[in-house]
Amino acid sequence: MSDITHIKPYLRLSGLEPLIVRPETNFINVGERTNVTGSKKFARLIRDGQYEEALSVARQQVESGAQVIDVNMDDAMLEGVEAMTTFLNLVQAEPDIARIPIMIDSSKFAIIEAGLKCVQGKCIVNSISMKEGEEKFIEQAFICKSYGASVIVMAFDEVGQADTKDRKVEICHRAYKILTEQVGYDPQDIIFDPNIFAIATGIEEHNNYAVDFIEGTREIKRLMPLAKVSGGVSNVSFSFRGNDHVREAIHSVFLYYAIAAGMDMGIVNAGQLVVYDEIEPTLKALCEDVILNRNNDDNGATEKLIQFAETVKAKGKEIVKDESWRLEAVEKRMAHSLVNGITDYIDQDTEEARQKYPKPLDVIEGPLMDGMNIVGDLFGAGKMFLPQVVKSARVMKKAVAVLTPYIEQEKEDKRLAHIAAGTVNEEGAGAAKILLATVKGDVHDIGKNIVGVVLGCNGYDIIDLGVMVPADKILSEAKKHNVDIIGLSGLITPSLDEMVYIGREMARQQMDLPLLIGGATTSRMHTAVKIAPEYENGVVHVLDASRSVTVAGSLLNKETKGPFLEGIKKEYEKLKTDFGNKKSAKQYLTFAEAQQNPAAIAWEEFKPVKPAFTGTKVFNDYPLDEIAEFIDWQPFFIAWELHGKFPAILTDEVVGKEATNLYNDAQKLLKKIIDEKWLTAQGVVGFWEANKVAADSVHVHDDGKIQKLEFLRQQIKKAAGQPNLSLADFIAPEGHPAQDHLGAFSVTIHGIEPHIKRFEQALDDYSKITLQALADRLAEAFAELLHKKTRTELWGYVTDEHLDNEQLIKEEYQGIRPAPGYPACPDHTEKYKLFELLGGEEATGIHLTESLAMYPASSVCGWYFAHPESKYFGVGKIEKDQLEDYTERKGMPLEEVTRWLRPILE
Ligand code: SAH
Repeated sequence: MSDITHIKPYLRLSGLEPLIVRPETNFINVGERTNVTGSKKFARLIRDGQYEEALSVARQQVESGAQVIDVNMDDAMLEGVEAMTTFLNLVQAEPDIARIPIMIDSSKFAIIEAGLKCVQGKCIVNSISMKEGEEKFIEQAFICKSYGASVIVMAFDEVGQADTKDRKVEICHRAYKILTEQVGYDPQDIIFDPNIFAIATGIEEHNNYAVDFIEGTREIKRLMPLAKVSGGVSNVSFSFRGNDHVREAIHSVFLYYAIAAGMDMGIVNAGQLVVYDEIEPTLKALCEDVILNRNNDDNGATEKLIQFAETVKAKGKEIVKDESWRLEAVEKRMAHSLVNGITDYIDQDTEEARQKYPKPLDVIEGPLMDGMNIVGDLFGAGKMFLPQVVKSARVMKKAVAVLTPYIEQEKEDKRLAHIAAGTVNEEGAGAAKILLATVKGDVHDIGKNIVGVVLGCNGYDIIDLGVMVPADKILSEAKKHNVDIIGLSGLITPSLDEMVYIGREMARQQMDLPLLIGGATTSRMHTAVKIAPEYENGVVHVLDASRSVTVAGSLLNKETKGPFLEGIKKEYEKLKTDFGNKKSAKQYLTFAEAQQNPAAIAWEEFKPVKPAFTGTKVFNDYPLDEIAEFIDWQPFFIAWELHGKFPAILTDEVVGKEATNLYNDAQKLLKKIIDEKWLTAQGVVGFWEANKVAADSVHVHDDGKIQKLEFLRQQIKKAAGQPNLSLADFIAPEGHPAQDHLGAFSVTIHGIEPHIKRFEQALDDYSKITLQALADRLAEAFAELLHKKTRTELWGYVTDEHLDNEQLIKEEYQGIRPAPGYPACPDHTEKYKLFELLGGEEATGIHLTESLAMYPASSVCGWYFAHPESKYFGVGKIEKDQLEDYTERKGMPLEEVTRWLRPILE
């Protein structure tokens, strides 16, 4: 009996057999291969439902010494709960695997709970944290405890993931107190994961991450000696992906120090750890410098390790000099430069090849095209990403530029020879030609530029007409150059109409070349329902640049063209029929009924805050460095078709390396833009007295004049208790005792043109597109900055706002800044009023095009609503009665209003 009081406070885990972690227990290896995010093979097996094979992965882990296996099913393509349940149930039936404890790993608690329901023995939950606050954390901890599980707590709180030693210790300690005092966890059942982040990424702030982990661990174990420390080890060496030899060395050195500091367990590839003492001395010394962040000023140690890494091939068998590729034949060197995007030697190599080959054209058709084919294959196989391809294109263009004068000369020589001989020169058919244009009224062209580069890389001749191109110019140029395909791009909704019009015109002019549709505002559905019916000879929506290549390929091959278009036609006809059927299924209120169901706002209790000024305030040449602090980087990666959350994308297993390169290049360019003042930020903010004078009409008092704003209201039938929203609902009605206000802003980034031109002349699409994307980021960041200034200072309706950039991006603040043309206020023509209120084109130099796009392209505008209940929504479809009422209120002809509102009428 008395023994019970003598049960030692050890972490006791079990599968079929116990695993007791005593003070003298060695480091515990948690097998990492049964993790869909870390192992492509395992992910594929699970996705394909090959559970038998997947089990053998688990078995291999156990056989190679894993004492626990980590199971993770967090993949967007998987139904996580189901995959976790199926796999763990199967594991339980395999005694040789189920012998050891399971670590149920997911960032979604529902998946963790599903796992908890399957396992026998005592498992580990990986993980819970305070990232969504204490309440959620406590709730989840109680659930884990009720299943008898021990639990990993990630060092993550409301502010973010802990990166420094102090933050790690502080968060773990806070979690420890909650778990032991409020949830009743035994200290020995708590395992901390203080976050192992990638080092040697080239980013200075990352250099100390390993030290922070090691020292954080030491302090955590000192403060909470019974708790355990764990971590995902392979993260640390992420930037050496593809070089297992170096990675294994880094892992061993890292563990050597981390274990000495108190780390108890870690997720590792159990079969693949080298023995610390067997690491060759040079490599070991380099790893120690990098891990312990010694001799690392200006990334010195990092650079040395990178250089060393490049000299060893994956398994360290063969030593290859860094620049050894320079010793290869010229063709190989050119391919190497193309694949790796190296411009340093391409001029001299091209010249060498030109002298070696009979004709300059042979160099293009020979080594250069061979190199680009490798790039194309790698891209197609998902082994290269868009930014790399664009860098390759830069190398290609440079090489072609070297050859062009010789090719011209040769042509001229031939021409003269023909003239002398009296013969006519018959030139063979060249590469297929593709014409690209952003349609009339629209100014954005990042996506189109990327498509152009990618198609160019694939050997097509690209004729790029730029932005704001009228239909007649597109069609006449297409005929003049005898192109094979037309590709249209558009960002804003009015461009959709323009595309429909171009389709109709192509039919009228009896053209027969295929029409490709792309850009942010376009969709397969719109293309199928609206554009394809206008033009019979092939309309295809292209989702992104990567897909443009296959689509163009299918269309330009005589054999595949017919069946391909036939397939698209069938698909689009079905979409169109489905669309027709779906529409009729929805129910709408009458407009009068919808107006009777506005947002329920207790105006009696609301005390509007008076802004610090009324009228406008212009911000000339706002400091770019301050703006840059507010950048949301995620859309930057999306522009480059790299998908994933920022900053996690930088260490993503698949695209992380390329995302990091791109990010570093962007940071460098951004620094240049700021230091050398390439761009100028102009902004204007204004506030005015405003009242709601009717359900959907707001009067804004501008210095004696009244601007009458008209809003649209959701008309679809809502569930009981749900309002039919209109932005007007968020402005106090006339007669409210205290005066309400409304605000507006517009911002823009000037001065990009000469730099774009310079990059174009330097044949550098990569820098050009990066610059365009950065200008867009700066415009959005400026909008974010001014919105914050508005809330806390200029309007001042909140006084104590403490939000970091991530929270700003998530819009966790009070109030909104809806943009005309966006779902809550889809009528672009209200932009006229917004600009008039803000002082017109003069205030910031933004010009509105005929489609009401803003030029410069990197511009943002919107209204400010301050009411705490104001929020974004979509108006959705409206009915004829609202259209008529709205038309009357707007005082515009019905056809005009219909044209602008088309997207929400059909
Ligand atoms: N952080 C992003 C912010 C821009 S997108 C970036 O850097 O790109 C979000 C903006 O789109 C909002 O600030 C608002 O101006 C607009 N917006 C989003 N949803 C909207 C809606 N439903 N109605 C009106 N405007 C909307």
